Amino acid sequence: MARTYKDKSLPWTNPTTNSLFGQQYRRHERWTRVLQVVLAAAFTLFVVYAFSWFGAKESKRAVSHTVAHESNNIYTENDVTKAFGISQEDLSKLIPPPQQIGREKASLVMLVRNRELGDALKSIRAMEDRFNRKFRYPWTFLNDEPFTQDFINYTTGMASGKTYYGSINKDQWSIPHHIDQDKVKVNMEKLVSKNVIYAGSMSYRHMCRYNSGFFYRHPLLANYQWYWRVEPGVDYYCDIDYDVFEFMRTHDKVYGFVMAMYEYEVTIETLWNSTKEFIKKHPQYLASDNSLDFFVDNHSPTQPGEKEITGDYNLCHFWSNFEIANLDFWRSQAYQDYFQYLDSIGGFFYERWGDAPIHSLAVGLFLPKSKIHHFGDIGYRHPPYARCPQDVDSHLSGRCLCSRKDHFDDDGYSCLPRWWNVAGQSLGSGIKLMD
Ligand code: GDP
Ligand code: MN
Repeated sequence: MARTYKDKSLPWTNPTTNSLFGQQYRRHERWTRVLQVVLAAAFTLFVVYAFSWFGAKESKRAVSHTVAHESNNIYTENDVTKAFGISQEDLSKLIPPPQQIGREKASLVMLVRNRELGDALKSIRAMEDRFNRKFRYPWTFLNDEPFTQDFINYTTGMASGKTYYGSINKDQWSIPHHIDQDKVKVNMEKLVSKNVIYAGSMSYRHMCRYNSGFFYRHPLLANYQWYWRVEPGVDYYCDIDYDVFEFMRTHDKVYGFVMAMYEYEVTIETLWNSTKEFIKKHPQYLASDNSLDFFVDNHSPTQPGEKEITGDYNLCHFWSNFEIANLDFWRSQAYQDYFQYLDSIGGFFYERWGDAPIHSLAVGLFLPKSKIHHFGDIGYRHPPYARCPQDVDSHLSGRCLCSRKDHFDDDGYSCLPRWWNVAGQSLGSGIKLMD
């Protein structure tokens, strides 16, 4: 039989009725319909493919995330290879190193003991949530003892940036030869009898000396210009949406702080006189427009050409457990000479000099006050004190979660009102005060 029009019908058409899905079509109508069906099928296939492609991408991300934590020993590369069927070679291509987003040569720095791991994680979590997950700056952890694998695993797991672990040179954490150990013992006992905090602790003295004279020389910090000091067990109350290191650089700042307070006088009995002596020997280091009027009540600002510091120290200092600062300042000749001079006197051991008053006196005397910045927009807690931005915007915007009752700024024990007199007031991201 000759082939008819019906024979040419497509396999899914009904040859007897010449229908496509039960309907009658004229020839050209049928081809239009076929085209529609083909297009619909192609579209469906495309959608299905697109979904599966995104899905694959997600699972690759999951793999790289998992492997990024490989150093935690939670998953080994072998586990991942088995679970996802990916070769070791492909895997290495999948693991992007944590890419720093912030553009500054900066690191978060924590001096910490292994046994403080829990508190260290709290601080890292808060820092990451409030600031660092947006910038992924690296973390540098320093310790006078080797870090445990647990410490490394957990902190690396929580950091969004790269992590580095350094041990401290023994001779930077021991009593120097020129120190009279008998005198140290006698003075320590005297301080203990006065119930001064950390009076009987030798490790606390090493810590203060290390933070005063050595941390910025640690090889792990050699390539950085900026650091943010973080301590275990602190909290940050507010989102910090800008790069603080970039802020410091572009605003020509050297030292940033949040809280200021008085030091225990018995721990620094000769620090002020030693500092006066140092300035007498090196008057060139005294900056004009320094912050002497922050340290000495009723002092008029130092005039250009003044070569000595006078008056009594009011014990005010920046609380150094929070610092955002330029490492080059500590590396400067002026500061190196100052530290060497103080170390030769031995006050870290004979008294219990803290790094906070030493850092503060140095930045306050060797720098013009315009280079010191109070971060009024940062909410911060280091037990037993906390400060919360007082302006309305920081709270209405949801940026901060803290009680405005935590306003250490104008507490009787705070030196901030003195700083406001010296440098102007800032209470938060705005300057409006709530009633
Ligand atoms: P406080 O803030 O003056 O009460 O002193 P902390 O006990 O908080 O110590 C200040 C910083 O130095 C913190 O980051 C501590 O983790 C760290 N630190 C104190 N003592 C030691 C120590 O003996 N070894 C190490 N590795 N870190 C220490
Ligand atoms: Mn502390």
